Amino acid sequence: MTFSILSRPLSAPIQLAQTQTLIHTNTSLADYTSYRVGGAAQWYTAPRTRDDLYVIFDWFEKQDLPLTLLGAGSNLLISDQGIPGLVLSTRYLRQSKLDLETGRITASAGEPIAKVAWQAAKQGWLGLEWAVGIPGTVGGAVVMNAGAHNQSTSDCLINAVVLSPDGTLETLTAEELGFSYRTSNLQGDRRLVIEATFQLKMGFDRQEVMAQTSHNLHHRKNSQPYDKPSCGSVFRNPTPQYAARIIEQLGLKGHRIGGAEVSHRHANFILNAGNAKAQDIFHLICHVQEQVQAHCSLLLEPEVRIIGDFSL
Ligand SMILES: Cc1cc2nc3c(=O)[nH]c(=O)nc-3n(C[C@H](O)[C@H](O)[C@H](O)COP(=O)(O)OP(=O)(O)OC[C@H]3O[C@@H](n4cnc5c(N)ncnc54)[C@H](O)[C@@H]3O)c2cc1C
Repeated sequence: MTFSILSRPLSAPIQLAQTQTLIHTNTSLADYTSYRVGGAAQWYTAPRTRDDLYVIFDWFEKQDLPLTLLGAGSNLLISDQGIPGLVLSTRYLRQSKLDLETGRITASAGEPIAKVAWQAAKQGWLGLEWAVGIPGTVGGAVVMNAGAHNQSTSDCLINAVVLSPDGTLETLTAEELGFSYRTSNLQGDRRLVIEATFQLKMGFDRQEVMAQTSHNLHHRKNSQPYDKPSCGSVFRNPTPQYAARIIEQLGLKGHRIGGAEVSHRHANFILNAGNAKAQDIFHLICHVQEQVQAHCSLLLEPEVRIIGDFSL
């Protein structure tokens, strides 16, 4: 029998029958995003197992409430007003399997993409060495088509298993996922990535692949600010130009609104430089956009996913 979530007392967590996972109310999302800002989710859950996920997902679909999907929260700016409905994170669905015969890795949605990259490197397999240092999950990497060093998820992804709102599981090929620069056709819809399979290139020298992977990590740590909360690059590059270069040339490095600051180290990073509100970060994003539009007649498009109400 289905009962309405709206009839539940607001403070009590729910545990559905035959699941191990609690569904919490009024949960601060600042704890679950790399920006460390954002208000509360009306409901928040991070299923511990796939079976729990299926039950919770099905139950919430029947409640007809807004649904927001989260991986590690490393590319999200969530409003200080919070988010209505359910926020569901796949961060605990962690498992990966290497096929030593074929060079394929199948990883669950919550597996850190950087961990999968190191697993591949340790085998001497090429294809994910760009992904070290990206603080997101496999699910987030698929949805965002994450990338670096001129490579991206779509270059080595074979397929992803996706759960649809009607409860069906589908295996979608890279083509069906509609990848382009930092996006896929899963962005912003209610389909949930369960796992993904990557094809790596085998037969390379293990030490060399490890060295390349370490080099990428060091390069990233030397050129990007990892010491303060951020979402990585805020804007997509307006290829063939680089957003960071344009922002730097306009003298915007170090520009602050409240606790939000354009990084001195990398101008496409907007940092939470201490006690920033999501609203400060949002206003600084808008300010940079306006300056670039006014001086370069170019609209920088945010790569960061901006979620919730910023109208206040
Ligand atoms: C310091 C730093 C450096 C970064 N460097 C890079 C970089 O070099 N290259 C790059 O591409 N990105 C970079 N990023 C951004 C970010 O790490 C990537 O976009 C990452 O792929 C996001 O993964 P996530 O799990 O954190 O996703 P989230 O931020 O949680 O979510 C991102 C989007 O994916 C959706 N989503 C997440 N998981 C699922 C799922 N299982 N099913 C369906 N939808 C889902 C969300 O709804 C949202 O729309 C960086 C971020 C930081 C903080």
